[in-house]
Amino acid sequence: MDMDMYRCVECGFRIKTLFVQYSPGNIRLMKCENCKAVADEYIECNFLILLIDLILHKPKAYRHLLFNVLKQGAPHFEGLLWKSTVGFLLLDAYRSLVLKSCDEAWSSSTSLSSLVWTCRKLLTDVFLGNLLFLGTFLLATKIFMSISAGSLRNKDILLAILISSYFKMFLIVMMVWEFPSSVIFIIDLFVLSSNTVAVKVMTESAMSRCIGACFSAHAVKIFTTQMSLLAEAIPWLVSIMAALPKIKK
Ligand SMILES: [Zn+2]
Repeated sequence: MDMDMYRCVECGFRIKTLFVQYSPGNIRLMKCENCKAVADEYIECNFLILLIDLILHKPKAYRHLLFNVLKQGAPHFEGLLWKSTVGFLLLDAYRSLVLKSCDEAWSSSTSLSSLVWTCRKLLTDVFLGNLLFLGTFLLATKIFMSISAGSLRNKDILLAILISSYFKMFLIVMMVWEFPSSVIFIIDLFVLSSNTVAVKVMTESAMSRCIGACFSAHAVKIFTTQMSLLAEAIPWLVSIMAALPKIKK
């Protein structure tokens, strides 16, 4: 893939420059050779308009963000990837904590053992869960997607997934205001759909395949979380089973 090329936000056609600058503040936007539309209208737009279009899941807004702003092969690309990974993991850790604090057992017992239990659960959910989540994502895009996805680097797909999970930032709002925990479910659904649009824009594959890839990755993550819960419940179940004969007597 040519890393020096920008993309037309309307059709995804590669373009060398997005605008020509005559003097400071005086620019002319370039037109796409393929669809004859202005290649990237977001250059002159307010950030709020971009944000609204991202929330509305417009592919052109995703194309602008993923191809023209976060330019692949740029010197700051690696740093951005690390920062977004850390941000993503921190928000996910907070999400797990919110879910845990909704659990009554957690609020009633604040002993050392429950603290250790929470830390262990958090590590499993956040690190193992997301490792498997991102791994499944990369594997699915490589296996199911079209030829254009084959030329994409893992880093590009990874950054697209991390950035398109921006709606997780709404969790920060939950730190300030009280919300029911069901809001987390809505945020999760939004992240899932946003990931799907980002993968569609990046790989130019059929929508059904993108939905399949995103759905399987999210399912693997949920499965990991549930399995860790089940693993924690096994000693508890065993102790109940052991106590049953005594109760019968
Ligand atoms: Zn175009």
